[in-house]
Amino acid sequence: MKKSVVIVGAGLGGLSAAIHCRLNGHDVVLLEQGRVGGKAGRIAEGGYTLDPGPSIIILTEIYKKVFRDAGRNPDDYLQFERLNPITRVMFRGESIDIPDGYEAAQRLIDQVAPEDSKEFAIMWAKLSKIAPLVEKTVFAHPYDKPWQLADPSLIKFALPFDVRKTYKELVDGMFKSSLLRAFFYGFPSYGGQSYRSKAPGALLIPYFMLQDGVWYPKGGVAAIPEAFARLATELGVEIRTGTQVVGFESADGRVRSAVLASGEKVSGEAFVCNRDRVQTQTWLGRTLPSKPSYSYFTVHMGVRREFPELKHHTLFVPDEFESGFEQLYEERVFPSSPIVYLNNSSDTDSAVAPPGCSNLFAVVTSPANEDHLDWPALTDSCVQRTLQVMSKAGVSIEPSEIEMQRVQTPVYFEQEHGNFRGSLYGADEKHRLFGMFPWSNRDPEFRNLLYVGGSVQPGAGLPMVTLSGKFAAQMV
Ligand SMILES: Cc1cc2nc3c(=O)[nH]c(=O)nc-3n(C[C@H](O)[C@H](O)[C@H](O)COP(=O)(O)OP(=O)(O)OC[C@H]3O[C@@H](n4cnc5c(N)ncnc54)[C@H](O)[C@@H]3O)c2cc1C
Repeated sequence: MKKSVVIVGAGLGGLSAAIHCRLNGHDVVLLEQGRVGGKAGRIAEGGYTLDPGPSIIILTEIYKKVFRDAGRNPDDYLQFERLNPITRVMFRGESIDIPDGYEAAQRLIDQVAPEDSKEFAIMWAKLSKIAPLVEKTVFAHPYDKPWQLADPSLIKFALPFDVRKTYKELVDGMFKSSLLRAFFYGFPSYGGQSYRSKAPGALLIPYFMLQDGVWYPKGGVAAIPEAFARLATELGVEIRTGTQVVGFESADGRVRSAVLASGEKVSGEAFVCNRDRVQTQTWLGRTLPSKPSYSYFTVHMGVRREFPELKHHTLFVPDEFESGFEQLYEERVFPSSPIVYLNNSSDTDSAVAPPGCSNLFAVVTSPANEDHLDWPALTDSCVQRTLQVMSKAGVSIEPSEIEMQRVQTPVYFEQEHGNFRGSLYGADEKHRLFGMFPWSNRDPEFRNLLYVGGSVQPGAGLPMVTLSGKFAAQMV
C-alpha cells in the first residue's frame, strides 16, 4: 500500500531508505538539517578536497545493486578505482605494503611473519566458508526477535570461530607476530566495539578488503551519497536540505509528524529516522543508556608538499601499540601513542589538492565524549600525539607546511551530527541486542517509526548503512 514517508536525515542511510521507499511505491520527503551525505560529505577548503570521515571503501556491489534495483546502470553514477596495495603499514622502521588479493597477501605473510603463515591460511579458509552466509543472514534482514537466533545459516556463520572468546583472544590464539596482531586488533572498532567484545564477525572486514578489494570512488567518497541523492531525486524523492527536525509529534501509538525548528510540522504515515537512534530517545521522552560506544578523532591537513613515502591508505603502528589499545579500551582514554590511520587520496587523485601538495587526514579511534574527558582541553595534545606517531615513523609535517587544518573530536560529532555523546555507533557494546547485534531498526512503541544508519542493524560503515536503508524501507 502506498504511504507517505517522512525521512529525517540525508546521510547515506537516509538516502538509501528514501530510494528503497520510492522503489516500493511510497511518496517520500527527506528532511536534512545540513547538506546531503552526513559523515560521508566533503570538506573543500583552500584548494584542498578531503573526505571528512569514511575513506576505506569496500563491498562496492552493495552500492551498485541500489542502482540496478532502480533499473539504472551503476557506471552512469559512480566509478570506482581498485587500490593496490590496499594499505601500507609502517611498523618498526619498515614500510610493509599489504597487496590486493589473498594469494599475494599470503605470500607477503610467508616472508614477513612466517610463524603465522599456516594460521592465516586456516583463518582464510574458514572466512571463505562463512562469507557467503553473510548475504543470507545479517546482510539480508535485521535480527530483533529471539526466535531468529535459531536461523541455521546464522548458526553455521557463528560456528567456525569460538564465540565464547573475545576478539582479542581469537586474534592472539591465531597469530604470534606483533605485525599481524597490530593489524587485526583494530577491526572491531569499525563497528564501535572494543577488541574485548565477542566480535568474530569483525574478521570479515579484512577478508572483504582482500577478497573484494579496497576502492576509491572517483571524485572522493562524497561521490557515493551524491550519486544516491541524484538517483533519489530522479525517482521523485523531495529532498529538503537546511531543514532541521527538533522532535516528533505522536498520538495513539503512532508518530504523526516531524516538528521542524521553524515550527512547521511535516506529517506522514511512516517515519524513518537517520538521526542516531540512541540520541533520538530524548525526542520520545526516554532515558539514555549509561555508556556510549567509541568514536574517532581526526586531523585533516592540506600540506604544501608531496609524500612519496605514503600510499593512499597508510597505517602507523607505534612500538607501544599494545599499551595504546589497553589505554583505549580499559582506561577509556586517548592513547599516549595511538595507532594512526592516514589517508592520502592525493596519491590516487590529482584533483584533490593543488599541484605539488597533499590532502592528508589522520584518524585515531578514541573514546567518545565521556564524563571523565575534557575534549576542548585535550585536543591540542591529541593532535601532537597523532603527529608524533607519524614523525617517529619518518613522516614529519612542519607547522609551516600546513596550509589548512581541521580537527574533529567527539564533541564535533555530538554537536554537528547529533551522535550520542559523540560516539559513532550508538550505545556501548554491553547494550547490544542479544549481546550481539546493534539496536533494532524498529521502534518498540511507535509502530510507524523506523531507524536507519550506523546506530542500528546491520551496523556501521557505508555498505551497512546502505543495507539498513533497505531494511527500513521493507519495514515501512
Ligand atoms: C572519521 C570516520 C571514519 C570512518 N571511516 C569509515 C570507513 O573508512 N569506511 C566506512 O564504510 N565507514 C566509515 N565510517 C563510518 C561511516 O561514516 C558511517 O557509518 C556512515 O557515514 C553513517 O551514515 P548514516 O547515514 O548512519 O549517518 P550520518 O552520515 O551521520 O547521517 C545522518 C544525517 O542525519 C542528519 N540529521 C541528524 N539530526 C538531524 C535533525 N535533527 N534534523 C535533520 N537532519 C538531521 C545529519 O545532518 C546527517 O546528514 C567512518 C566514520 C568516521 C566519522
